Amino acid sequence: MNHLSLLRQRMVERQLAARGVRDRRVLEAMQIVPREEFVPPELRAFAYDDAPLPIGLNQTISQPWMVASMIEAADVQPGDRVLEVGAGSGYAAAVLGLVAHEVWSIERHPTLAEQAQARMHHFEYHNVHVVAGDGTRGLPEHAPFDVIVVSAAGAEIPKALLEQMTIGGRMVIPLGRHPQDQVLVLVRRVDAENWEQSKLAKVHFVPLVAG
Ligand code: SAH
Repeated sequence: MNHLSLLRQRMVERQLAARGVRDRRVLEAMQIVPREEFVPPELRAFAYDDAPLPIGLNQTISQPWMVASMIEAADVQPGDRVLEVGAGSGYAAAVLGLVAHEVWSIERHPTLAEQAQARMHHFEYHNVHVVAGDGTRGLPEHAPFDVIVVSAAGAEIPKALLEQMTIGGRMVIPLGRHPQDQVLVLVRRVDAENWEQSKLAKVHFVPLVAG
């Protein structure tokens, strides 16, 4: 096993399993996806640090634990179709691709979207599609989604995303007007007109920028 695979295994054991991530499929997926390939080359050695890392354009790749917790909280099932808002590097989308049936991920920075899509192609994650655009509008042409994971924080939940959930669908989204005051929220669509919400944890995400 090479050095980075060893660090990846340790990350899964110490940052995820030891901290309560139980979903076996999430743990397995994070054991497989090479996070070092989703960070800038000069940061490869830090790929398995217990932290977010810069990926350019003022954006970050989320901390491994955050990626695992969000996917576990959304209770992603093998047959699920997933929408991610905020592809960034594409790392979370790649992990989602291993636990779900199909993933659509939207990124507002075209250069990041292109790089992320190129990684999916290179690593043959054929069920993951990254598109450039404004994720606050969702992706009506591919809706509805069983799971929506929002990887950037807004003041409120975009209406389009609520409408694009299946009945019984789950959405995980960080909410908060101020960077220091965000909470991760789990939303479940109960029926055509009702959604229930619960708060999961205090978090810190880059802003969700509409338009
Ligand atoms: N999931 C990513 C982390 C992304 S950070 C990863 O694994 O690397 C959040 C990303 O959301 C940033 O790249 C930012 O450009 C993007 N973003 C912010 N607002 C957005 C919007 N309205 N639509 C799509 N992407 C958005």
